[in-house]
Amino acid sequence: MSRIDLHLHTTHSDGSLPPIDVLALAGKAGVTALAITDHDIVDGIPEAMEAGARLGIEVIPGVEISSCYGDGELHILGYFLDWKDTELTRRLANLRNSRHDRNPRIIEKLNELGLAVTYEEVRALAGTESVGRPHIARVLMNKGYVTSAKEAFDRYLAEGAAAYVPRALPTPAEAIAWIRAAHGVAVLAHPTWIKESAEGLYRLCDKLKGEGLGGIEVYYSTHTAQQTSQYLNIAKRLALLVTGGSDFHGVTKPDIEVGVGRGNLKVPEKLLDPLKKAASV
Ligand code: AMP
Ligand code: FE
Ligand code: FE
Ligand code: ZN
Repeated sequence: MSRIDLHLHTTHSDGSLPPIDVLALAGKAGVTALAITDHDIVDGIPEAMEAGARLGIEVIPGVEISSCYGDGELHILGYFLDWKDTELTRRLANLRNSRHDRNPRIIEKLNELGLAVTYEEVRALAGTESVGRPHIARVLMNKGYVTSAKEAFDRYLAEGAAAYVPRALPTPAEAIAWIRAAHGVAVLAHPTWIKESAEGLYRLCDKLKGEGLGGIEVYYSTHTAQQTSQYLNIAKRLALLVTGGSDFHGVTKPDIEVGVGRGNLKVPEKLLDPLKKAASV
């Protein structure tokens, strides 16, 4: 039954459950080690570590940073970071500020479309400085404008949708460098989201490796068996580490559960040691 889960969100970013509840679900799912990877924030880590110590679950400090890639985004995960590092703290605060620049402009567009929602309501629901589009989606759900986060994204919030506003993002090389400067290992998140051919993705990973990338998130809730083996192959060819996680968010991704994703995710425990070793060199 033993499994790990290296990609989890909490109420410190756009997840709907606090770290303590995420840890309890992990315990029930037979997860022996996990990483909290909130967007642009590390504030959930101490709480998670405390709960982990009580439940006998190893908690790895992590983060997820969005970077720009063409017209879209490329997410970089950071593991085993010195999460109290002052430079990292400053950089993450800047990223959270860029969210506060963008979000009110999304709200303006929603208002123009006739949806009565304020940024104050969104900030109150979020209860964190890392305010994301899923928080806006939840306010739209609560007000009955949409029935799911998926509908909120499809109609309003996704890239190209009616209220979409891009955010100033670092380059992948910057995100990788920031993680490494805090002694963490940088990992390419959910490659399924990257719009590239098989060969294009290989070349991208090769380039990112040159910029300091240490691994690829091969196991992921929505990866097909074919994608998993494709990404495993890229990792092998480029001597990159292999990681995996559910990307649990709670209510905005209701089909994804801690530890098991859509039911068939199993991230092997044996991936942890190589990751740990890479962080300590
Ligand atoms: P932001 O960080 O504010 O730019 O919002 C991006 C986040 O929204 C991603 O990291 C996902 O957690 C979430 N997201 C993106 N697309 C969807 C979707 N279709 N349904 C639910 N959540 C989504
Ligand atoms: Fe998210
Ligand atoms: Fe992501
Ligand atoms: Zn994520």
